Amino acid sequence: MVLNKFERMEKIDSYEPCPCGSEKNFKFCCYQKARNGKGKTTINLEEYTDSRLHHEITKVWDDTDFKVCLGFNPEECKPLIKSAHAIQNNRILNRISEDGHVYTISSTVSKKGIDPVFKKVSKNKASTFFGFCDYHDTELFKQIELEDYVGSPLQNFLFAFRGFCLEYHRKIRKMNTIRNHIKKNPALLLEPFGIHNYRVAQFDIEDSIIEYEIFKEDYSNGKFDNLVTIHRNLNFEVDFAISSAFAVKDDLLGNEINNIFSIESEIVPNIYINIFPIEDGTTIILSYNKRYDNVYNQLFEQIKVLDDDHLIKYLNFLVINYTENVFLSPRLIDSMDKKQKDSLLQSFQTSMLPEKTLELIIEDQYFKFNLFQKTNKVIN
Ligand SMILES: [Zn+2]
Ligand SMILES: [Zn+2]
Repeated sequence: MVLNKFERMEKIDSYEPCPCGSEKNFKFCCYQKARNGKGKTTINLEEYTDSRLHHEITKVWDDTDFKVCLGFNPEECKPLIKSAHAIQNNRILNRISEDGHVYTISSTVSKKGIDPVFKKVSKNKASTFFGFCDYHDTELFKQIELEDYVGSPLQNFLFAFRGFCLEYHRKIRKMNTIRNHIKKNPALLLEPFGIHNYRVAQFDIEDSIIEYEIFKEDYSNGKFDNLVTIHRNLNFEVDFAISSAFAVKDDLLGNEINNIFSIESEIVPNIYINIFPIEDGTTIILSYNKRYDNVYNQLFEQIKVLDDDHLIKYLNFLVINYTENVFLSPRLIDSMDKKQKDSLLQSFQTSMLPEKTLELIIEDQYFKFNLFQKTNKVIN
């Protein structure tokens, strides 16, 4: 019997592969351990200092890093898998960095909870992930690495694909984090929140695999124009950059367009987003695959008719609400006052804690910042 998404949210089936990743059936793997540990899923925070807790959780994440090549023809792979930039170092990160650094949004963990913070990172590390071998990182992306963006279907495809790969790699790491928790604490598999976390990560991966195969098929057939793309140029340089992929929940009128628990939809597809500064301008590229016209056609029609000011306002929301893979110039952070910085971090937090939204709206702090604001760039 195959369980649908609703049923899968309720329980782990005895005969499905065990969530710990062993490839044995749940019944013959962690099930008995889970029963023995039932009711003992909470850890005793008293034993932890804040810095130890932060250290442990950061370490759990670091331990999940892994190397893979997401290039389409594995037989062409050449060693090594290197730490590849999702956002080009020389063309883009160079423009927004100061003294070789940019900011990203990270979190500090304490007993009180998780607090978002700005974290300074070297531009050589920003947006890197172990997702391509040396050969594919160079060969596959030539048309966007070596040539200016002119809006060709192949370039749109490559930008979309690279943003997707960065997020895909993170999703696998997220799943591995959950697996590590399950191994330490099998009883999570009998708790509603344990099942929920595992299933959300699992649905994410299942959808990503389908989307990866679509990229692969389109690439092999040269069908780069299967992507529907909106390209917009701004006449000034922004001080941030993003390359990402995520599923948008609502359209501009607030109508729901994606629901991860829906059993009717085949998958929850992503849109692909790249925003970066160029000489005296900014390039914005938004795409989705036309196979998912039924999901995104309306939204893209709505976006298309926005003037620059409204588009900026919408993207300001989209970027911070849906991804942490955004890199900010120190110039941008420095040009914000404390209220704006707080608003940015707390608005970012609402994507994980939706119940915070109302609080921020009441305090007039919900998305009260502008990523697109102009700063004084010192030309070196
Ligand atoms: Zn197991
Ligand atoms: Zn490769």
